[in-house]
Amino acid sequence: MHAAISDLARRLRDCDRLVLFTGAGVSAESGIPTFRDAQTGLWARYSPEQLASPEGFRADPRTVWAWYAWRREKCLAAAPNPAHLAIAELQRRLPGVTLITQNVDGLHQRAGSEAPLELHGNLHRLKCFRCGADGGDWPETLDPLPRCVCGGLLRPAVVWFGESLPGEVLARASEAGLQAGLFFSIGTSSLVYPAADLPFQAKRRGAFVVEINPQPTPLSRHADLCLHGAAGGVLPRLLAALE
Ligand SMILES: [Zn+2]
Repeated sequence: MHAAISDLARRLRDCDRLVLFTGAGVSAESGIPTFRDAQTGLWARYSPEQLASPEGFRADPRTVWAWYAWRREKCLAAAPNPAHLAIAELQRRLPGVTLITQNVDGLHQRAGSEAPLELHGNLHRLKCFRCGADGGDWPETLDPLPRCVCGGLLRPAVVWFGESLPGEVLARASEAGLQAGLFFSIGTSSLVYPAADLPFQAKRRGAFVVEINPQPTPLSRHADLCLHGAAGGVLPRLLAALE
């Protein structure tokens, strides 16, 4: 892997448009379980749709809020890991870096990354279930459940099952991918569309696509380089090779 890392560091130095695209694997290294892995104990008796869909929220908003309050506690108790920190450092050192994430935990921002494109939203922010208006930060209490000025219930500002990704964020992510000289897919299973298509789009436009993931994924055989390992191990080595 040493030669591959040195070669990649050289490509990074020569690249003026870099996209870093992250998924659940990066958060998992901070101890944050994936949605399905988090559905243990008392949550195991619910379907994913009961906890994270418009229908589920309409039927039982209090249970959905309780689920996200629990998820949010896990995120607040976790800390950014070496992958998050290396990504923030790459953004500081290199020009033209766009960070796109599928994670909703806010750990990239806590590591110092500014304004990542959050394809699946952010569970620390709220929006109105009725009118869609921004609902600010979490309330002090969930009793009563928080409401918008329009009277509608507020909800966590994440993308639920059956919902589309936020159009403007997806458009900006797609544009960054199409212009990328180098595209890193980091800690993502490359299974959930349309996000999973971003590296393929970049590849078709001529980007050099790098996959960093412990296991092979559907992207692996299309990527120009696969580094099989944890992002928290690979990215700091890459950063060191940039020196
Ligand atoms: Zn509203």
